[in-house]
Amino acid sequence: MYQDVIREVLEVGYGLKEVTIKKLDGYISHNYKISTGATNYVLKLYPLDQEIIDDVAAENKVLQSLKDIALVTPQPIPNSAGDLLHTDDQRCYRLLSYVDGEPWTVYNPEDEAIELIGRSLATIDVSLQRIQPIAIHARRLPWDPAHFFDNLIYLDLIKDAHQKSYLQYFINQWKTHIIHRLPTLRKAIIHNDANEHNLTHHQGAIYGIFDFGDMAYTYLINEVAVAATYIAFEHKDPIRAIESLLRGYHAVHPLATEEIDLLYYFIAIRLCTSILQAAHSAAQQPENEYAQSSNEGAWRLLKSWVKINPWKATNQWRTAVGLGEIYRDQHLRKRRDHYMPGSYSTSYEEPIHMVGAAFQYMYDAAGNTILDAYNNIIQVGHCHPKVVEAGQSALATLNTNTRYLYDSHARYAEHLLSYFPDHINQLYLVNSGSAAADLAIRLAKSYTGKSQVAVIKYGYHGNTGSTIDVSHYKYGKKGGHGKSADIVELDLPDIYRGRYTEPDEHGSYARDACKILDGTTSLAAFIAEPIIGCGGQVPLPQGYLKKVYEKVRSLGGVCISDEVQTGFGRVGSHFWGYGLQEVCPDIVVMGKPIGNGHPMAAVATTKDIADAFDNGMEFFSSFGGNPVSCAIGAAVLRVIEDEDLMAHAKKTGMYLMDQLRGLPQSFPIIGDIRGSGLFIGVEIIQRDRERIPDGTMAKKIINQLRERNILTSLDGPDNNVIKIKPPLRFNKENSAQLVDELHHILTKG
Ligand code: PMP
Repeated sequence: MYQDVIREVLEVGYGLKEVTIKKLDGYISHNYKISTGATNYVLKLYPLDQEIIDDVAAENKVLQSLKDIALVTPQPIPNSAGDLLHTDDQRCYRLLSYVDGEPWTVYNPEDEAIELIGRSLATIDVSLQRIQPIAIHARRLPWDPAHFFDNLIYLDLIKDAHQKSYLQYFINQWKTHIIHRLPTLRKAIIHNDANEHNLTHHQGAIYGIFDFGDMAYTYLINEVAVAATYIAFEHKDPIRAIESLLRGYHAVHPLATEEIDLLYYFIAIRLCTSILQAAHSAAQQPENEYAQSSNEGAWRLLKSWVKINPWKATNQWRTAVGLGEIYRDQHLRKRRDHYMPGSYSTSYEEPIHMVGAAFQYMYDAAGNTILDAYNNIIQVGHCHPKVVEAGQSALATLNTNTRYLYDSHARYAEHLLSYFPDHINQLYLVNSGSAAADLAIRLAKSYTGKSQVAVIKYGYHGNTGSTIDVSHYKYGKKGGHGKSADIVELDLPDIYRGRYTEPDEHGSYARDACKILDGTTSLAAFIAEPIIGCGGQVPLPQGYLKKVYEKVRSLGGVCISDEVQTGFGRVGSHFWGYGLQEVCPDIVVMGKPIGNGHPMAAVATTKDIADAFDNGMEFFSSFGGNPVSCAIGAAVLRVIEDEDLMAHAKKTGMYLMDQLRGLPQSFPIIGDIRGSGLFIGVEIIQRDRERIPDGTMAKKIINQLRERNILTSLDGPDNNVIKIKPPLRFNKENSAQLVDELHHILTKG
């Protein structure tokens, strides 16, 4: 039926008979390819709407102005009455000449061709300056980055929280770092959709460009950004490919530094637009395959875009067009060391100057992308947009303290406490793991009225006076003041290199510990991590905490689990590390991951213990539990839940340990691989000698991993245990990269 109408329009309106008609792909408009003999046309159909008619008339004017440029463009064909728009009582029609050539889709552009694409787009943009129809200026398209936020209404169509976070990351970067710089950018009328479908070539030489339907008066750099996006889709080295595009464009129509500097984010925003528009049209017209055609590629590119250091990309692109690199402070280390006391340390022989990060990737000032296999503190990923947004929004709304009422405080307490058994139902919020451990010890002492604290050797619980006292890792090592009178030391129950290594002896650690505890006279508390982090990622022998907790309680003491390193899903099988030992402590200390880098920490305990502490002295922490921290803490919990990060940690941790366990056969210096979830230790020993630690070799390995852009760390009494503790977003691909690089290093020797 449609064909009959079209035939009549062509015959009556344009005098074209005996035509063949083929429907063309389109996002929303109805387009048909019309052929008569050797001549082809495109017929476009529009509803009879004055705004659309004005818009299309303006587009026709622009096309006419491009008639004589070196590139072939569609030209409007007048109807029999000489009008460029033909109307009947139903619709408005427009006939355009057909742009021949092979679509760019089937052509894999090599650098020279990419440079030509750049030149062609610049040619178009120079020509487009000649005519400035008001209707084009007035367009408000979702594909125009100036109106990108119009697309945000479709964000909730993306159901997978993990996938969605990539969109949210770049949207947040755009809001935070780019929007305020947009007014400095030059605007112009641009084609705005130089994708692989809309450009044609003849044997590699760019021939024509069509589909001016997304033409907009917007930031000129977006012309380059759109083409760059589609070039990057399939290219092995997208940054280099985009260099060629820029070189070509810049030669004809020079770009400014501030335009190049925002290109990385314009590309990301184009990908976000494309994905959100595809989600919208999938919801509206599920049968339209064209609208989904580049969606998979867009997702793939968006996810890999976070692996590209924006500083590196920008510097390469600046250099490609002859502009200088971004200024870099070469004296940062000296300036820092001038003001920082000597007791501060840095990681690695050559410390890293960090400038940015995304999820499990960090960016340094030299342009490297560094895989974070150990950042220690970040739990759900660097700059996770949900956490960043929660903090930004709370900071802009209200920041006060716990002496006032605000919703987020009680809501967060309820949420966090829901992760504990019913009897652990009281929460204190503070600002550091040290403050939390300090408070835990105070709670224990006031509840029991006793003074002794039992600790495990090489344990660490904080940097304050009282927490150093319970941290053998500090008081018992270089510069430490030695054991205080009220401290009771238990051996590090290391089943790999400790006193009892045979499976049938493992129970002896708990037996020895209980013996020592029996000798106490005033035991207030026992504090330990469920896997001893600073001790070298040492898991406690099975049943250890059950026996020791029982003994501590029988002596009137309370049990404190320090979950600063092991909590919040990291160990994979349980939300809290103590779950590994099938026990429940009386007091839980939380820190690091609780705020994904925001300074917050907490202590959870029972009503009885909290009541005993409520002895008339007020407890107040100026910053602890403020509305910003509560918002951030809640966002961290939601991300762990929505992205199922605990299960992910379990799966990835098992995969990584499996891969690592493949190594020792070929490399006898790997003595032991242990841990749980994404809390892993790799113990380095001397070659051919039984379990003799090799801290020098371990240090060499982590420095070489750093040279290969992977972060790890060292711990343990002999500093010979490589510590792997990545953000929980760390995945199989990252694990394979880590194991691969480790293999390389060990092979080299
Ligand atoms: N407990 C443990 C187990 C820790 O690892 C740390 C920090 N490394 C702390 C407590 C102290 O936390 P913070 O540095 O936040 O004071």
